[in-house]
Amino acid sequence: MIKNLVAFLLISAWFTSFSFAGNTGKGKVSFADNSVVAHRGAWKKNNLPENSIAALKHAIELKCTGSEFDVRMTADGELIINHDPEYNKLPIEKTKFKDLAVFKLTNGEKLPTLEEYIKAGLKNNSSTRLVCEIKPSEISKERGKVIAGKVVDLVKKMNAQHMVVYISFDYDILKKVKVLDPESITQYLEGDKSPAQLKSDGISGADYHYSVFVSHPEWIEMAKKNNIALNAWTVNAAPEMDWLIANNFDFITTNEPEILMERIKKSPIANGWTLKWSDEFSYTGLPDSTKWVYDTEGNATGWGNGEAQFYTIARKENSHVENGKLSLTAIREECESKPYSSARLNSKAAWQFGRVEVRAKIPAGIGTWPAIWMMPGGWSFNDGNWPAIGEIDILEHVGHNVNVIHASAHSKDYQWQAGTQKTAVIKVPGATENFHNYILEWNSEVMRICVDDTCYFEYKNEGLGETKWPYNKPFYLILNLAVGGAWGSAEGMDKTEYPQAMEVEYVRFYQKM
Ligand code: MG
Repeated sequence: MIKNLVAFLLISAWFTSFSFAGNTGKGKVSFADNSVVAHRGAWKKNNLPENSIAALKHAIELKCTGSEFDVRMTADGELIINHDPEYNKLPIEKTKFKDLAVFKLTNGEKLPTLEEYIKAGLKNNSSTRLVCEIKPSEISKERGKVIAGKVVDLVKKMNAQHMVVYISFDYDILKKVKVLDPESITQYLEGDKSPAQLKSDGISGADYHYSVFVSHPEWIEMAKKNNIALNAWTVNAAPEMDWLIANNFDFITTNEPEILMERIKKSPIANGWTLKWSDEFSYTGLPDSTKWVYDTEGNATGWGNGEAQFYTIARKENSHVENGKLSLTAIREECESKPYSSARLNSKAAWQFGRVEVRAKIPAGIGTWPAIWMMPGGWSFNDGNWPAIGEIDILEHVGHNVNVIHASAHSKDYQWQAGTQKTAVIKVPGATENFHNYILEWNSEVMRICVDDTCYFEYKNEGLGETKWPYNKPFYLILNLAVGGAWGSAEGMDKTEYPQAMEVEYVRFYQKM
C-alpha cells in the first residue's frame, strides 16, 4: 500500500506540475495518505444532507483522500449538485435553476451549484480530491456530453484540474472529458470493462461496485499491472472494507469514512504486512482445487485420537463453497464404517513465518471438534514423527466447552501427551453464532495467536533448539471438523444435533516484505 501510494503520489505530483504549466498555479497538493473517499461527502455520522457543502467540508476536515459528489444540469444550463434526477419532486433537467433553488437542503443550506461546490473544495483543502460524478442525461446521450463539456470548462476556469477526479457510468462522458482535458483523471463506474480495456481507452481507473471485484478477482492484479487505479463503491461494512484494504485498493468509496479510517489503522497492511495468498470463497462449488487438497490419510486409524468421522474427498455434502463461505459439514450417517462423515482440507501452499488470518464461525454441537491449525510443509499423517516435527494450533474448540477457544504449540519437549504443550484459552462469547478472526503471527523469535483484536497466546523462542522450537520452517494450514475422539467426546456425543458445520469466510496469508 505504502509503495503504491508513493508511486501514486509521485504520479499525481507529476500530473499536478504538468497541468500547472501555463496556469496561475496554486502550489502542490499532497492528498491524504489513505484510501477513503467519502460518498456524497461525509454526511452520515453528523446527519448532514448528502451532496451538501457541509458534507464536503466535513470530508476535508476528516482528511479523506477524496470526497465524491454528483453533478446534474438544469433546464437552463446550470450545473448543480444532486444525486437523484429529481429535486423536491421536480425533474432537474426540465426545471429552471431558480425554481429548484427555492427549496433548501435539510440543513438550511441552499442547493449548491458546481461552482460553489468547487469553491468550497478549494478552500483550506490540502488533502481531499474532488471526486466529480457526471450523471448521464436522461434526455439524451448528446446532452450528457454537453454536461461533461461544461463541467470540464468550469473546472479549468477555476484552476481546479489538480483537485478533480472525474467519474461516470457513461463511458462516452469520460472519453469526452479525456479529449477536453487529456491530463484529467477519469474513473469508470459501470463495472463492465476490464482494466486492460480501460487502459487502452485512456481511462485512469476502475471505480466498480465491490461485488464486481469479488466476482472478477483477476481484475485486481490486471489493474495494478496496467497502472489503472482501483476504487470500489459503496463499501460500508468492515469485512468488505478489510478485503479491499488487504488488496491494496487505491480508493474505497464509503458512507462510513470514520469506520473505514479505523479499519485502515488496524489493518495488517498498515502494520507492514503484504497479502501473499488468500481464498475469499467468492465462488460456488467445491473448494478451489488449486489451493486445497483433501486429507484422508488418517481415516483408517481414527486420526490417532479414536475420532468418529470419515473425511470424504470432493463430496459437496461435506465441503462446499457458496454465498461467500466455505462450509465443512459433519453429518451423522454411516460412512465407510464410521458413524459420521466430514472433511479436512490442507492448503497446498506452505509458508515460513507470516500472519495467517481465518474468519470463521464454529459449531456448538456436543461431540464436535473443529480446528484451524498448521503442520510442517511436506508432513503427512502417516509420517508418524508427531509432535517432534512441530504443530501450531490457531483454533481448537470442543462442543462440550462452548465458546472456549484454545491455541497451542506442540514440539518434542512441549507436547500434549506430556501435558507440557504451550497453550492458552480465551472465552469468545458468541463464537458459535458469529464470525470471528482467528489469527497467528509468527517469526523466528515469537508466535502470537489472537481472536479479532485480542492476542491471548504468546510463545517466545527460548533459543534452546529444535526440540522446543521446530518452527523455523514452512507450515501449511489445515481446516477440519472432527467428531468425537478422546477430547471431542469427553462429555459424550449429542446425536440429535447433526449436521454441524464450521463456516469460513476467508483465509488470508500475509508476510512482511
Ligand atoms: Mg455518485
